[in-house]
Amino acid sequence: MLKRFEREFAQHVGDVHAVAVSSGTAGLHLAIRACAIEPGDEVITTPFSFISSANVMLFERAKPVFVDIDPVTLNIDTNLIAGAVTGKSRGILPVHIFGHPADMEAVGALADDHDLWVVEDACEALGARHSDGRLVGNTGNLTVYGFYPNKQMTTGEGGMVTAPTAELAELVGCERNQGRAADMGWLGHNRLGFNYRLSDVAAAIGVAQLERLEAMLARRGEIAGWYREELSGQTDLTLPCEDLGGVTRSWFVFVVQVAEDVDRDATIERLRKQGISAKPYLPAIHLQPFYRELFGYRPGDFPVAESVASRSIALPFYTALEREDVARVARALDRSLVP
Ligand SMILES: *Cc1c(COP(=O)(O)O)cnc(C)c1O
Repeated sequence: MLKRFEREFAQHVGDVHAVAVSSGTAGLHLAIRACAIEPGDEVITTPFSFISSANVMLFERAKPVFVDIDPVTLNIDTNLIAGAVTGKSRGILPVHIFGHPADMEAVGALADDHDLWVVEDACEALGARHSDGRLVGNTGNLTVYGFYPNKQMTTGEGGMVTAPTAELAELVGCERNQGRAADMGWLGHNRLGFNYRLSDVAAAIGVAQLERLEAMLARRGEIAGWYREELSGQTDLTLPCEDLGGVTRSWFVFVVQVAEDVDRDATIERLRKQGISAKPYLPAIHLQPFYRELFGYRPGDFPVAESVASRSIALPFYTALEREDVARVARALDRSLVP
C-alpha cells in the first residue's frame, strides 16, 4: 500500500516523485537534509507558522532566520527576503499558510539571485493552486505535506515529501528508512538515517482518502463560503483574504482576526461557555520561550506576524459541519466579541 499511495499521490500532484513519511515534521526534516543543510547555515522562513517548519532547522544546528509576513495573505513577505540574506544564507522555506499559496515566482527568483535552495511547507495546502493552474508542490521544489487528522486529508499521523527528481526522492527515501539504500538489504546502511517510515496501514488510509480528496476539498470550500456569508456583516472581524492574483486557496482552517480593540482571549472564553471550541491560531514562533532564549527574539521584532497572531481565532472547521452549525457559531461569535 505504501508504494501505491506514493504513486497515486505523485500522479495527483503531477510531475513529481513522492516519498511517504511518518509526519509532516519528519518530511520537512528530510527535505532540508536533502538540501545538504549544515550546522551554522541560515534558512529564511516565516515566524507565522506551525512551529515545526522552524524547528527542523534546529534539528540540524542551523538557524531559522525569520522575516515578517504579508498582512493580507499571511505568507512570508517576499519583499523582505533579500534584506535577510547574509553570507551564511543557504535556503528559503516558505509556508503556504492556511492553504493560501505563497508567491513561488518571487521566492524562486530570489533563490536564483542568491544561490539558495527552496523547500516548500505545503502541510496546510494540499490542493491549492498557483495562478497558472499548477498545484502547489508542482513548481520544481522539494515540497512537504502533512496528514495529521486536522489536515485536508489524513492518515492518522503521516506526511509526504515530493521531489522534482528521482535522485532527491531516493535520498529522502533512504534517510526515511534508517539509511538503507534502495538496493541494500535490511541490515545494510550507507548513510545516517531515521525511522520516519509511514506504516502500510496508514498508507492504505491515505489511498482511500486520496479517492475522496476532491469531494472533501469541495466541502471545505462550501463551509468556508457559509462562514463568509454569515460573518460578512461583522465590522469587528477581518475574514480570511479572498483568493488573490488568480490563485486558489485550499481551505484548511477558517481563521478570523478580531479588531485591535476586541479582547481575543475573552472572546474565545465566551465561545467556550456556549459550547464552541475555538483557538488562538497561530502564535508567532519567534516569541515561543525557547526561541527567545536561543536567539534573543523579542516582541516587536516582526510586528505584522505578532499583530495577526495576537488577534487570530480559528473557528470550528471540518467536513461534517452543516450550514446550521456555521450559523450557530456565527451567532455565538456575535455575542462574544467584547472589548
Ligand atoms: C501540520 C503542519 C506541519 C507538520 O505537522 P505534523 O504534525 O508533523 O504532521 C508542518 N507545518 C505546518 C505549517 C503545519 O500546519
